[in-house]
Amino acid sequence: MLEINNLRVGYGGTPVLRGVSLTVKSGELVAVVGPNGAGKTTLFNAISGIVPATGGTVRFAARDLLAVAPSGRPHLGIAHVPEGRQVFPSLTVSENLEMGAYTAAGRGAWQHNLDRIHAWFPVLAERGGQLAGTLSGGEQQMLAIGRGLASAPRLLMLDEPSMGLAPAVADAIFERIVEIHRTTKLSVLLVEQRVAEALHFAHRAYVLETGRVILEGDHETLRHDDRIRAAYLGM
Ligand code: ATP
Repeated sequence: MLEINNLRVGYGGTPVLRGVSLTVKSGELVAVVGPNGAGKTTLFNAISGIVPATGGTVRFAARDLLAVAPSGRPHLGIAHVPEGRQVFPSLTVSENLEMGAYTAAGRGAWQHNLDRIHAWFPVLAERGGQLAGTLSGGEQQMLAIGRGLASAPRLLMLDEPSMGLAPAVADAIFERIVEIHRTTKLSVLLVEQRVAEALHFAHRAYVLETGRVILEGDHETLRHDDRIRAAYLGM
């Protein structure tokens, strides 16, 4: 579904991604983990086109994604839920969800998707008329995920959904992501700092350090890898 080969991205001549290769198969939940500044957000921004690639290829659903304008990529089925949530604070919860449904697929499936989003995140139904900027951090994260789902994507990209949230709130959101993935079979690409949880739930994971994939594998292999245990799992 998503096939990235030797992707290079830099800012003002400074390389940030130095030849990253990664794949997500249809229906997989894949995690990208790594320390601050490794380039995880930059990777997502290059996939959605917020930053241009300087080399390499990205194929999505058999298309050359880098040849598609950034504004066209959501219409191919890519939903990017950005770091820090970035909901529209002065719009209501319902209006934010509607904004997500601007793709043809999202418009066509709007009522069905809205019912599902409300079932996964009942608080979004209860607070439909409330301004998004007045929601708690956890509720805003649920709204950001709901807005992404409203576009009826084939690939959901989640950038650090647990960021800045209390552990119990982050756990609840993480469990919901797994449930959404299990029931929809949507492909999910997740950037996550909670490495233990990411490796528990993801089928496969990539470890990104200073712009390079230094390790990749299925979750069992990585959870037992000495380097992962020492650097990320505190063992
Ligand atoms: P974090 O978990 O802290 O968000 P990350 O792995 O997502 O880290 P990125 O945000 O992709 O890392 O940043 C990778 C590197 O690129 C960092 O050194 C960062 O300072 C740099 N960088 C990111 N965005 C820009 C930008 N717009 N202009 C210049 N440098 C940038």
